Amino acid sequence: MWLSYHRRIRNITCKLVPGSNSAGKDPAVNSPLIQENTIRAGVECQGVGLHSGAPVHLKILPAPAGTGIVFRRTDLDNFVVEAISRNVARVSYATSLMKQGVLISTTEHLLSAFIGTGIDNAIVELDNLELPILDGSAQPFVEMIQRAGVRRQRRQRTYLRLNRAIELREGNKFIAVYPADTYSVSYAINFLHPLIGKQTFEVDLSDDNFLREIAPARTFGFLHEADAMKEQGLIRGASQDNAIVLTREGVLNPPLRFADEFVRHKVLDLIGDLALLGKRILGNVVADRAGHAMHTALVSRILKDPTLWDQTTVADVTDQLATMEQPQPAA
Ligand SMILES: [Zn+2]
Repeated sequence: MWLSYHRRIRNITCKLVPGSNSAGKDPAVNSPLIQENTIRAGVECQGVGLHSGAPVHLKILPAPAGTGIVFRRTDLDNFVVEAISRNVARVSYATSLMKQGVLISTTEHLLSAFIGTGIDNAIVELDNLELPILDGSAQPFVEMIQRAGVRRQRRQRTYLRLNRAIELREGNKFIAVYPADTYSVSYAINFLHPLIGKQTFEVDLSDDNFLREIAPARTFGFLHEADAMKEQGLIRGASQDNAIVLTREGVLNPPLRFADEFVRHKVLDLIGDLALLGKRILGNVVADRAGHAMHTALVSRILKDPTLWDQTTVADVTDQLATMEQPQPAA
């Protein structure tokens, strides 16, 4: 099942940005769930956009607590576009942000990597309109972040905790979130393809589950749809190095990283799209044949009605757990 996770990723360069090491040590060391994090040093890579085919340099830089994730277009006077629901623009085969006509395309894999590695605050600089697709998964972004290191910040992280169920339906597509004390995702897909069919995947996003089970899962596409999509201005940067390419019978570029890599990638996309809430979520998200449009519709629905959730820190919950884990005195 874990066929090529350790395969070296080709055509990707990634290096630390000199002189960007954030100064000082943060003495506040606690549970990683309690406080916000940024990266310890800047890190950069280059690649091409999946849909635009445009070459792009991307840099991830540390940011102060409370910043959130902010994109900066260095080719457009450092114009800033925050990774929040209000800036969601076109949503079809990828999620794009737009503010005052300035586009940031295909944000979901990097935003997913930030959630998976516990990064709350970062500046993401890019010199073109679309993020690099790299190997089609979140793994190269995770490796960049791990290489830069994670720095805990003083500010308490606030979570958005659902207090009621929210369910959205559109034809046979479904997405919902239910109250829970942790963040978990359950996804189902159904494609008429011998290698896919019906796949479901459930993951609790505490611990390192994201890193092991979700981050390496790559995007995928069907060879027989490629020409029509290119005519629509899509997948112009796609190749066998950055997507699973499916023929009618099988895979053009094996091996798969997981037998159910397809549904795992949908989980990856969903986590990235839900990051546009701007806060980490406490809830159980359930999706069936949803896509970027429904993912972002759920984000809008949640944010539109503040009676559906409250904001909380997990300090109280963690305190309770710590108390429970204390060894009991001998009688
Ligand atoms: Zn994706």
